[in-house]
Order: sequence, then C-alpha cells, then structure tokens
Amino acid sequence: MKIGVLGAGQLGRMLALAGIPMGHEFVFFDDTPEPCAAGLGQVDSLASPGLHALDALTYEFENIESYVDRFQEFGIPIRPSPNALKAACDRLWEKDLLVELGIPTPKYREFVEAREFAKSNQEIGYPLIAKTRRFGYDGKGQVRLDGYEDHERLWEMAGEEPMILESVVPFDRELSIIAARCADGKVAIYPLVENHHRNGILRLTIAPAPNLTPELQGAAEAYARKVLEQFDYVGVIAIELFQVGTELLVNEIAPRVHNSGHWTLDGAETSQFENHIRAITDMPLGSTLARGYSAMINIFGERPDPAAVLAVPGAHYHVYGKSARPGRKIGHITVGAADRETLAERVAALRYDDLPVLP
Ligand code: AMP
Repeated sequence: MKIGVLGAGQLGRMLALAGIPMGHEFVFFDDTPEPCAAGLGQVDSLASPGLHALDALTYEFENIESYVDRFQEFGIPIRPSPNALKAACDRLWEKDLLVELGIPTPKYREFVEAREFAKSNQEIGYPLIAKTRRFGYDGKGQVRLDGYEDHERLWEMAGEEPMILESVVPFDRELSIIAARCADGKVAIYPLVENHHRNGILRLTIAPAPNLTPELQGAAEAYARKVLEQFDYVGVIAIELFQVGTELLVNEIAPRVHNSGHWTLDGAETSQFENHIRAITDMPLGSTLARGYSAMINIFGERPDPAAVLAVPGAHYHVYGKSARPGRKIGHITVGAADRETLAERVAALRYDDLPVLP
C-alpha cells in the first residue's frame, strides 16, 4: 500500500522502517528542510500537498490541525481520527474528556486572566503547575508555582496563550501505556513502562515497569480502552500516567506512536511502529509481549561512539539522521536482557552518569 504520513520526523522515519518490510511505500508531508524520514519515501509539502493516490493516511506529530481539512480531499480516512487529535492537543479539552470518561486526572482549572487568578487558584492551591493549553511539549510552556512569590513568571506567560492550572501531583513514579486498536475494534496493549525525565524530557524508559502488579496494568488498560472506544480509534495511542500509591492518574494522551514505546523496536514481539502500520492498513495486530526486560535511553546533543554502545551485550543503536545540536534529541539506545540484574549491568556499562540505578 501507499501510506501518507503528515510529518517526516523521527517517528515518521521509524514508521517507514517498520512498514517497508511489509511491502508498503511512503509519502511524507513536511515543509521542514531535510526531515528525518527523507530517503525512506517521497516528501511533499504539508501546507500545499499535491494529489496522491494513497491507501492509508496517518500523522506522526500533533500540531497538524490546521492542515487536516486539506487532507480530507484525499478521500480516505485520516487514522487515528482527527477528533482524537483535537482533544489531545488542547490540555483543557483533554482533561475535560478524561473527567467525562471517569478517568482520574490531576486537579485542574482553566486560567484565562491574571486578575482571575485568585479565583482559579482557590480550588487548586499550591504547589501548582501552569501549562499553556496548546503547543506545549517536553516541559515547554510550563511554570511551577510554589507560592505567590513565584507569580512573575506566570504573568509573563499568561495573556499570550490560554492556560490551565494543575495541582502538582506528589507522584511515586511516572508510567506510560501504549495500546493499538484496529477498525474492527480489536485492541493490543503493551505492558506499562516506567519513565524518567531530565529537564522535562524523557531520558530513560524501563520496560516492563518494575514492580508491576496486575492491578496497575489492569487499571491502565481500562483507561486506554475507554479512550480508544471514545474515538473509534485506529492506530497506536500513548497515555502518560502518574502513580501515587496504588492509584494511577492520567497526565497526558498522545494520539500517536510515542518515545516511551521505542523500547518495543528491540524489546517486544511487535514494535509500536509495526502495530501502528498494521492498524491503519486493516491488518491483524501483532503480539505486544515483552521479550525479557528492556531499557531505552534517549541520546541528546552528540552521538555517542557507536562502537562503545554496540560493545554492550543486548544494546542497539538508533539515530534519526539529525544534525547534532546541544540538547537536541537525535537518537536512542535500547538495551535488552533476560533478567533485571543483567539489564542493570548492561545499562551501567553504557557509562551514563545521570541515569538512575536500575532495580
Ligand atoms: P507534560 O508536558 O504535561 O507531560 O509535563 C512534563 C513533565 O512535567 C511530566 O512528565 C512530569 O514530570 C511533570 N509534570 C507535569 N504535570 C505535573 C503535575 N500535575 N504534577 C507533577 N508533575 C507534573
């Protein structure tokens, strides 16, 4: 099939790397110079695409709402449904939806104007996080307030963008769950994973999450199913969660393949990318079972020496064809092992001094 993808970043690249072996061809729509997926298919404009005979159409990044109408003209459904995208790319709508579905989320309140702050804040209290409703990612567009003295920073941001206030959750850890759904309603769900961030950006994923109980997995799966059903969803979805004691709160929904699912490339029977392609092409979903234990470590800025990484047993090196720039996410490493102890040794052998010690 000929598959169109809105966006040609690293996620588009990895979708193509999963789809090409199944015989598919790719057309990417992206206006940035030298996008990551160039070379794996044709690249056309996102803002003014030509007409293509496509068999399936999907997207790999979230801020495409203004382009969606143009792509309706291709006469095939955009999968996942743009309705899911619409809800997920506005933090207020996203949280309203979660409440409607009976899914726990941090306490939140819309925040419109500085002079109404006191009223909005009454319910939330301190500490709180103010977030722009839209266009926030990797911790951007966010400010934490521990008390009134921190408000200067909020006033600077407010007024430019609509925002929400959110109570700071004293979470024990951050988890995420990745699920795939086909048009016939069949669902496949990966095990919960544990995520560690650095400066608001994902640094390390441990898969499956340590100390994973059937109750936690069951709760996360139930939330995922509700969201998938709500949108008659087709494709892969990611849901980010906070664990507090034995409870799970949903932080965010991403209607696409997700960085915390990159471990599946080498650590699951079917990768999230392959399952997304299978779902949007109406093929049966593949097994989401984890092969042993995995870690995924993001690479920022400079490429590490590939020979040093590949000398570590169970390690795989993935780079996205991006130029190196300080702090820029340019690739990731996956590490697999048959038991947790060996996994911890292998991750330690990569010699990153900022990673937590694996359990
Ligand atoms: P987000 O862009 O909403 O995923 O936020 C980025 C990171 O900020 C999350 O992964 C958390 O580490 C932290 N964070 C966001 N919202 C909250 C919250 N309500 N309580 C505590 N930490 C949060």
